[in-house]
Amino acid sequence: MARYTGSVCRLCRREGTKLFLKGERCYSAKCALTKRATPPGQHGQARARKMSEYGMQLREKQKIRRTYGMQETQFRRNFEKADRQKGVTGDNMLSLLERRLDNVVYRLGLASSRPQARQFVRHGHITVNGKKVNIPSFLVEVGQTIAVRENSRDMEHFKALREGTTHVLPKWLSFDAENLSGSVLALPTREDIEMTFEEHLVVEYYSK
Ligand code: SF4
Repeated sequence: MARYTGSVCRLCRREGTKLFLKGERCYSAKCALTKRATPPGQHGQARARKMSEYGMQLREKQKIRRTYGMQETQFRRNFEKADRQKGVTGDNMLSLLERRLDNVVYRLGLASSRPQARQFVRHGHITVNGKKVNIPSFLVEVGQTIAVRENSRDMEHFKALREGTTHVLPKWLSFDAENLSGSVLALPTREDIEMTFEEHLVVEYYSK
């Protein structure tokens, strides 16, 4: 399936909630969802009707998938992996999603959105334990150090971060602004997810 290249704000309007895909803009009055909360398309307003059980499961799956910027096949594979693990499948699924390198770069505050974090990883600006890793789906492990590559530290974006950030760090990560690096202190748990997700709907969706 081809990667979605349209307006990301459209995705938020479709899901009826902020997916925080545009950095600073998402927190401002310019947010498309603040200005127009109806689903996209000519008949967006007319579409607002009671949703079926399947519809709710589908929408929740799409919401989580789009939040993490994944394609359907990739997202399904992630779910299957979570399902094979011990414990609660929904919790496992979210933990695996949080451990993705692009998400960790975002959660460390090195990028203002997950799409930007993904681009930083893809463009080779990020290292794990000192080695360049340009795979956004790379899963971090406890004890690993994620940092901005030496050659990339002079980029204006990263220079600004060194001067201080108000970013709120999740408790499973630590961050050293001076060295633009962070460590994985523990694996993320359900409580560490900041977004409001109803992951049981995704489990139901894939269990049909
Ligand atoms: Fe979604 Fe951010 Fe666009 Fe608002 S500005 S609609 S939160 S991507």
